[in-house]
Amino acid sequence: MAFWFFRGLGKGIVTTRYPKAIDPWTSALPTPPAFHSDRLTIALVDRLIEVCPSRALAREHNELIFDVGACSACERCVQEGAGAVEHSGVFELASTRREHLLKRVHIGRGSA
Ligand code: SF4
Repeated sequence: MAFWFFRGLGKGIVTTRYPKAIDPWTSALPTPPAFHSDRLTIALVDRLIEVCPSRALAREHNELIFDVGACSACERCVQEGAGAVEHSGVFELASTRREHLLKRVHIGRGSA
């Protein structure tokens, strides 16, 4: 650990390079959900909002608002919305702008 600390100080490196190949264990990581817009109903979305402990979900009229930055990937919405909600498999969520983490999913049309 000390080696990396002093190496970083000496060379001005604050992080390591991004891995060239995806590590196989990443498939076991919990990831935020993906929503199938065409399978969502307003009643289901309201249930998803109720089960979300992180307040990452909200509804505005016919849109589900998903705050990826607030999501803890607890999977409760995946269990509640089986068939309409699934694991995204995406864990690279870094963004320099907060608004990029807010996803709008139309309820009952298309896919997101
Ligand atoms: S995975 Fe958990 S925290 Fe994320 S949106 Fe679903 S219920 Fe909310």
